[in-house]
Amino acid sequence: MATAARLVEVALPLPLLRTFTYAVPAETRHPVHAGSRVVVPVRGKRVIGICVGESDGSALAGKEAKPLLDVPDPTPALPADLLAVCRWISEYYIAPLGLVCRSVLPAALTSAIKPDAPGKQERILVIVGELPTLTARDEAFKRAPQQRQLYELLEQLGGRAPVAHLVEQLGCTPSVVQGLVKRGHVRIEQATRLRDPFAERAIASAPQPTPTPAQHEAIQRIVTSARGAVTLLHGITGSGKTLVYLEVLREVVLTQGKSAIVLVPEIALTPQAVDRFRAVFGDQVAVLHSGLSDGERLDAWRALQRGERRIAVGARSAIFAPLANLGAIIVDEEHETSYKQAETPRYHAREVAMMRARETGARCVLGSATPSLETWVNARDGRYGMIALPDRVGGGALPAVRIVDLREELRAAPAPDRAKRAVLSAPLERALHERLARGEQSILLLNRRGYASFVQCEEGHVATCPNCSISLTYHRTPERLVCHYCMHQAPADANCSDCGLPLKRQRGLGTQQVERLLVETLPTARVARMDVDTTSGKWAHTEILDRVARGEVDILLGTQMIAKGLDFPNVTLVGVIDADIGINMPDFRSSERTFQLLSQVAGRAGRGPKGGDVFIQTRAPSHHAVRCAMTHDYHGFVAEELPSRESPAYPPTLRLANVVVSGLDEPAVTDFATQVADWLTQADLRFSLGVTLLGPAPCPLERIKNRWRWHVLLKSERQAPLTRLLRGLLTGLEVPARHDLRLVADRDPVSLL
Ligand code: ADP
Ligand code: ZN
Repeated sequence: MATAARLVEVALPLPLLRTFTYAVPAETRHPVHAGSRVVVPVRGKRVIGICVGESDGSALAGKEAKPLLDVPDPTPALPADLLAVCRWISEYYIAPLGLVCRSVLPAALTSAIKPDAPGKQERILVIVGELPTLTARDEAFKRAPQQRQLYELLEQLGGRAPVAHLVEQLGCTPSVVQGLVKRGHVRIEQATRLRDPFAERAIASAPQPTPTPAQHEAIQRIVTSARGAVTLLHGITGSGKTLVYLEVLREVVLTQGKSAIVLVPEIALTPQAVDRFRAVFGDQVAVLHSGLSDGERLDAWRALQRGERRIAVGARSAIFAPLANLGAIIVDEEHETSYKQAETPRYHAREVAMMRARETGARCVLGSATPSLETWVNARDGRYGMIALPDRVGGGALPAVRIVDLREELRAAPAPDRAKRAVLSAPLERALHERLARGEQSILLLNRRGYASFVQCEEGHVATCPNCSISLTYHRTPERLVCHYCMHQAPADANCSDCGLPLKRQRGLGTQQVERLLVETLPTARVARMDVDTTSGKWAHTEILDRVARGEVDILLGTQMIAKGLDFPNVTLVGVIDADIGINMPDFRSSERTFQLLSQVAGRAGRGPKGGDVFIQTRAPSHHAVRCAMTHDYHGFVAEELPSRESPAYPPTLRLANVVVSGLDEPAVTDFATQVADWLTQADLRFSLGVTLLGPAPCPLERIKNRWRWHVLLKSERQAPLTRLLRGLLTGLEVPARHDLRLVADRDPVSLL
């Protein structure tokens, strides 16, 4: 009798919370390990899966295991520690392991069966012998000034850079490189070439400032914290958090020889910060951004996996960079909601970062001027370390913030001016004129794109999207009505669908309208508008921001995308056109979001020696989100906001999960949502889990893209009961196969819409 075949468990990219058992044939192209890509037969098709471990065959229930068809790569695509991360995400967020693996691996590895062949190679120059003292240097390069230049350029670039790049920068001949190699100061290595457009962006390797005593202490505390520890770096805007990150990486990467990950909310919005990392660490940095093609992303993945690049900088998914020997993970602007993925697997990159740090012993830094309340409470209660940078670098003051009560402004304005004053109050307009006259720059925030957020007929009916329960936004260029959820478009001269009257009245200010008013009011000003509509191209964000940096823009107007991270010393004025836009959203975090946004945008002003002013226009001047932003009072805000999360209880008081049922037919959705709620209630009782259930109820956005949506909210003080209940629901309750019904669990949701 032949010996039983070896069996393995394979995770497949299917919406099922289980893995599948396959037999390993006696002969395979390459050995199979946990983390290896394998090709398996699924209903007559060849599908790429990930081997996640050995199997005892118990899931086969007597059936015979089908054999693997192919093992395309010589080594596992997923390193062991990343496979552990995938398992954790799959367990905690109740997501199929195969779908988790798919979102962790570069698309090129999950979509094509072709073997993971190396990319284009290039020659890299690497420093081997350090020349620490000046005398040693003078001695070594006595008769070779060009070699010295080359050596020092290489040093500035973090000790490794492509030969071609160095030769071009210095304008020297390849013989200079050969000379340096012969002396044994450097050596040449082969490495995968990255076809990355970011890599072509010129960066000045400017000297870095010396840390202030406060920064120095922060750096020391982070690098000497326990392995795997989490530290909150609570530094006000302009306190120099980036330099702290840079110095921590210098210690971890250059001195200790480890690797690091830096997460930023959105690469396109933070070219300045990315430039600073590249200025210090040069070729050690792989910038992972959404503009990369599949091939470029694969190249970057390989370079990180082989240790050719040791720092990954990127948005959410960069937390999966396949770096070995991680020494530090930095999550900048940790409060940003873009760290949460909005589709399966619905992971939060900050949570994954902390988990990965724990697993690998890396130090984890969460940086923010306005930490999320969850992080704040964890730090306050001693679960994370906490370091405060309460002052701006160089003794700079935070800008003075003035509140402009729009209701009073309108009362005081002469009738012909009223329409304009609802957008630009007299004090803000005056301030803009002054900046223009002095050649200084201004930033204006309005967190709503389009021209008008809705249009009405004489009867007061609002034009809504036929597919979503949301009003259509009026856009002027090009002129049309647009749904911001499903992109449905209607002609701008449409008539009301209720009464047939023309939809003439425009309500709810958008950025396009402010832009028009600015051009009329300040005709000599060079205005740049930055919102989703002006930044569709790959490099559109960077182009606009580079123009501002070069002084070619007087007024930068935009949505929340202009509030983050920008550091322009010539910006001396920030105006918030309407602070109230987010305040009344049906979400328990609406005050927190508003406070964060106002604080962030206020922090863009006065970052240079000229100081700065901020004007916040509002109709709710007494709201704590506005009041505390005025005094830059994070602690005051927390003191008022936390009690409101206690009753009714919401995070950080407890843990939340949102179970959403959606489908094409309203009664079917209501029915199934009720069934889901009943199932949860019974299971909760049966196992005495103590989870509180709210609903079923329609979601605040009742319909999106033709799908009706209902939800059930689960609250619990402990994690385990939620995991148990959600897993039970998703594996135990069958989703009826009609009206495209779907059931989704969103753990730690960042939006309840
Ligand atoms: P944050 O991210 O905390 O808002 P940044 O890191 O952008 O602040 O720093 C604000 C400004 O201060 C930047 O222009 C930075 O170059 C400068 N800066 C930071 N640290 C120092 C320092 N130790 N000495 C001089 N300038 C510094
Ligand atoms: Zn729509």
